Amino acid sequence: MDDLPGELRAVVAGIRTHLQARARAGLLGVSKAPCPRMNRAVDSQTDVTSHPLTDPADVETSYAADVEPPLPHAGHGLTLVRAELGDCQRCKLAHGRRHIVFGAGNPEAHLMFVGEGPGAEEDAQGEPFVGAAGQLLTKMIQAIQRTREDVYICNVVKCRPPGNRDPEPDEIAACEPFLKKQIAVVQPRVIVALGKFAAHILTGESTPITRLRGNLKHYQGIPVMPTYHPAYLLRDESRKREAWHDLKEVVALLKHMGLP
Ligand code: URA
Repeated sequence: MDDLPGELRAVVAGIRTHLQARARAGLLGVSKAPCPRMNRAVDSQTDVTSHPLTDPADVETSYAADVEPPLPHAGHGLTLVRAELGDCQRCKLAHGRRHIVFGAGNPEAHLMFVGEGPGAEEDAQGEPFVGAAGQLLTKMIQAIQRTREDVYICNVVKCRPPGNRDPEPDEIAACEPFLKKQIAVVQPRVIVALGKFAAHILTGESTPITRLRGNLKHYQGIPVMPTYHPAYLLRDESRKREAWHDLKEVVALLKHMGLP
């Protein structure tokens, strides 16, 4: 007790680290309800019921457990983020959409692809990258010996911009917190930013994608590889070589991390 402020700081730092780890695993809030796991935490050496201030009815929840409960699956965290998004009306894209296109794939993926926003086919089906550009993305994923189910795929904006126009700054700003939460839950080891909107938002740079692509950047410590959007590659096939180079860099990075 000599250094109470120092001890308090250490306790707060410990709690912060603990909560950050839990958030990464998908626990986005802390329940105020008594923890049911405490049932088995009563110290058998101590007869707590005999303490004059202890109501025996409270005994089962009055002791902290010494063992962490299992971390929730990231799929649960994504369910919470999707629930928070709800029937989103945060921007004007809500009026024209048929479906919110949240994301798809493995909630615990090592590799995440972030696109721009849903097109007509994605809006109709509620799934990201299922139209023509999506078919090319599927081939790109297969070319690096993975399936769509291995990776996680989502977009900067979750609703289709009318006529497939570019998403506007207010629309991006309204959706950005949800992309950030998806990343916080999935905790990918590498992110591929498809096209300028994903690349700019994740790198914080506004360099043209032709110069940004292929240069590894970071988002909150997670490596981000900016590359061309598959829709652009469909329009200009000569750029596919560069995109393939970028994907090979990503594979090498994952390998270097000891990931399959
Ligand atoms: N283009 C995107 O950026 N995202 C999709 O989901 C589909 C096309």
